[in-house]
Amino acid sequence: MMALDQDCIFCKIIRNEIPNTVVYEDNVVKAFLDITQGTPGHTLVIPKTHVPDIFAYDADLAAAVFSRIPKIARAIKASDPAIKGMNILNNNGKVAYQSVFHSHIHLIPRYSAKDGFG
Ligand code: 5GP
Ligand code: ZN
Repeated sequence: MMALDQDCIFCKIIRNEIPNTVVYEDNVVKAFLDITQGTPGHTLVIPKTHVPDIFAYDADLAAAVFSRIPKIARAIKASDPAIKGMNILNNNGKVAYQSVFHSHIHLIPRYSAKDGFG
């Protein structure tokens, strides 16, 4: 396990100190359901090291984290034939609506134009 932050809620999720529903996990990332489901299956993918935002990634961490996104996206899509698409979002900084300062990538399944998101 890489460096974690004692007080960070997503580091606590990595350590399972906060209950969470795991979607995917390996040595580099953890994917779990967002507590607020923008649409059903809304998932957050986080690096297993405390990185506040995209500005703090080095190239190796970026490659390791982002290269895993397509596989996780496919697994979510395959879990429900009603999923027709997916929004993938990454907010960086308060002005960009980041509220948890452990970097995370939102995977938001889309069911139809009327599924209520965005
Ligand atoms: P942001 O606004 O920073 O891009 O997204 C943070 C996300 O983290 C929000 O969608 C929020 O619902 C989610 N979140 C905040 N606290 C928790 C938590 O304790 N557990 C889970 N599963 N998600 C959380
Ligand atoms: Zn953290």
